[in-house]
Amino acid sequence: MKKLFLLLLITLFTVNVHAQIQEAIDRFEFDPDITYDSDIPSPAEFLGYELGEEYTFHHKVMAYFEKLAEVSDKITFQQYAETYEGRSANYAVITSGQNHVNLESIRQKNLKIANDPGSVRVGADPIVVWMSYNVHGNEPSSSEAAMQTAYRLVAGTDNETKEWLSRSVVIIDPMLNPDGRDWYVYWYKSSRANVLNTNAEDLEHDEIWPGGRTNHYWFDLNRDWVWLIHPESQGRINVYQQWMPQVHIDFHEQGFNNNYFTMPGTTPRNHELPEDYEKWADVFGRGAIEEFDKAQVNFETRERFDFFYPGYGSSYPSIMGGIGMLAEQGGHSRGGRAVETNDGYVLTLRQRVFDHYKNGISIVKASVENRERLWDYFKGARSQRTQKGNTKAYILPNNENDYTYDLVNLMLNHNVKVERASDDFNQRNAYSYWDGSSSSRAFKEGDFIIKTNQPAHLFINTIMRRQLEIKDSVMYDMSTWSAPLAYNLDAAWTTSDVGVNTEPVSEMLSHSDEVKNGKATYAYTVNWKQRNAPKALAHLWKHGYKVRAASKGFTKDGHEFSRGSLVILMGRNQHKAESIHSDMKMIAEATNVEITGFNTGRMDEGSDLGSPSNRPIEQPKVALMMDSGFSSYTAGQLWFLFDQWTEFGISRIRSDSFNGLDLNEYDVILMPGGFGLNGVFSENTRERIKAWVRNGGTLIGTESSASWLTKDQSGITPAELYEPEDDKDDSKIDPAAYTKYEDQEDSSGLRRIPGSAFKAMIDNSHPLAFGMPDKMYSLKFSTNALKPNTAFSTVGYYMKDADEVLASGYVSQENKEKAAGMAFAAVHGMGSGNVVFLLDNTQYRMFWVGGARMVQNAVMLMPGF
Ligand SMILES: [Zn+2]
Repeated sequence: MKKLFLLLLITLFTVNVHAQIQEAIDRFEFDPDITYDSDIPSPAEFLGYELGEEYTFHHKVMAYFEKLAEVSDKITFQQYAETYEGRSANYAVITSGQNHVNLESIRQKNLKIANDPGSVRVGADPIVVWMSYNVHGNEPSSSEAAMQTAYRLVAGTDNETKEWLSRSVVIIDPMLNPDGRDWYVYWYKSSRANVLNTNAEDLEHDEIWPGGRTNHYWFDLNRDWVWLIHPESQGRINVYQQWMPQVHIDFHEQGFNNNYFTMPGTTPRNHELPEDYEKWADVFGRGAIEEFDKAQVNFETRERFDFFYPGYGSSYPSIMGGIGMLAEQGGHSRGGRAVETNDGYVLTLRQRVFDHYKNGISIVKASVENRERLWDYFKGARSQRTQKGNTKAYILPNNENDYTYDLVNLMLNHNVKVERASDDFNQRNAYSYWDGSSSSRAFKEGDFIIKTNQPAHLFINTIMRRQLEIKDSVMYDMSTWSAPLAYNLDAAWTTSDVGVNTEPVSEMLSHSDEVKNGKATYAYTVNWKQRNAPKALAHLWKHGYKVRAASKGFTKDGHEFSRGSLVILMGRNQHKAESIHSDMKMIAEATNVEITGFNTGRMDEGSDLGSPSNRPIEQPKVALMMDSGFSSYTAGQLWFLFDQWTEFGISRIRSDSFNGLDLNEYDVILMPGGFGLNGVFSENTRERIKAWVRNGGTLIGTESSASWLTKDQSGITPAELYEPEDDKDDSKIDPAAYTKYEDQEDSSGLRRIPGSAFKAMIDNSHPLAFGMPDKMYSLKFSTNALKPNTAFSTVGYYMKDADEVLASGYVSQENKEKAAGMAFAAVHGMGSGNVVFLLDNTQYRMFWVGGARMVQNAVMLMPGF
């Protein structure tokens, strides 16, 4: 009885609350004229509410697709990845029952046109269309739309739907970011009011830090399609490469005041792509527009969104030879179930679902209608006739210590053929990434060669070129991502044929995990040059070893151990005598490092193993600042660098709790890029931080937080940011003051540095740079730099010649001159502690990682030096 009463009460309120939503449901009926197979439940029947009334949890979205796969022979639904939080990422393959019977042969035939441009397809063959939803978790209408789209395709009984299914294989990934999406849905449900509140400022529309956009580690998965740092991306690209769709669309949302963005977008464009890409983007855009015009859905095209950066879901498919596209519905995090726009319109979740649904269906329709011409485009894009430039190959010297293997494995994951030289060879016209000069250069047996005469040439050239052509400097993302620069490799490209026999690389490379001279009697050592040496250090500490780090380095039997190399003396680890030999083997295997044993401490050159210059280093307690005031992206990268790559536990401290923190509990404080930090840290706290540094603390500021550590911002150190003397004559008017209003945005773009690669010199005799080469490409986003000064140690500075300083990307002449010779990595000693400045990001998106060792050194070694 009580239950019934409650049910009645709920129904009563639901009717009132949802009146507005009901209106939207009536206006945005998906397909009033279509009939459906009654054995197949609609999303509304399955979920118990109309799409747009509610947000659907991840497990329910998955369950709906599983239900479709259970009751229909037109759809399969399979897992491709498991997220960090244990959720399943799945993809649906939707096509006619007949095609499903022959699915494997259809897939093989499709791969054949991807890899052999000479092969043909006939009109009866299906085209492969891939639709991706909800890569940004707080752009949540799209997973709802994915359910309706799948339902229409699987259950629609009309002839048009049947025709589409026999002529296409539609792959639907309903949720690319399950963790972020569920984050949003849980948060939204916990914040919503009973009485529908369309005021965008209400709690219901005001998501808390860090928001559901990103994945578990606060990474933007829509920047990870190329770099594959996360399991979601790795699993997805694995399936993507098995299917190689001709058409791909990525569904997003933007601010709720914006109308729907549909193709085409704006410049800069990737000039590696075939010219016809623009034409096809327009054809698909107009397909959606036909639907929008009918339903009075407002939209925009061409003025915004470029597809230059290759790691988006809207650009990666294009460099794989397909037509990659973007859809941006207004709504986003603040959209809720309904929100009032700046012109008084009530935008409902129902409409957002409807708009994405209509666009998705129009994509399938246009793909089927144009399939033969789309195959021609696709084959052309993967054939040599669309290759631009005259680069014949990219060559990577085989270096086990740096990030070479990362790049080779990346190429293999994208189905790029990588070869290894069978002999030493001399290569004519080998161009240097450092300065662009060409020479005849000697390479060794085992060096890696990536030739461009293969179907993935668009991908290879886009990722490997030192500089892509840029015709417009105002861009949505970074201006360079050249992989040899990002990984700081001594690579080359050549315009001549490679004249050496090769063997293909057939499996993923992994670093040596050998223990050399096992059962050593005197000491074990880890060369700090190795990519994974910091991870080995974390494991050594975890297992209770007393470790020293070499401040000078040493050489024995022709092997040179860099500064920073780890020394585990048997004499100082007697408590481990029983297990040390087996532990070393275990640690080498767990961390992929080579460990070398010695039966004597007498080295051939440099310090002996027992030398006082091999300093004891103890495991530091580390506080990583996060939450308001700090960039969640950089905080996420730093957390990921230590938690995943280094397997070194650090504490993440909310900025709110910092003012009350007992600093003496920590040895290292690590600050991601931050904003308005004087408001976050009280003056009293700043004084306490200074005292803590003088007492031996290591304070590390990265990006804008490094700028904050200067005299004029926080006053924590006397270091100053470089500001060129203003030599302008005040009586004269700056011509820039007459910039036309319409040109002002472009002119501010010219003054920014949109993620460009600067050539930098590194002092690797300083502990901050132990184990690093003496040069690197630093990725710069701001114009900030320190003026070198004898009051601090300059560890990294940009090349002194302004004409030489830029390696890749866009920078104005004025900004080159401002940066040349300035410091971006420096250490300022205070009392017995240090303040470390890292003005450039050291591990951007975990692919621009040439500087990552600096932050590992700052955290793990610096407190002992
Ligand atoms: Zn988005």
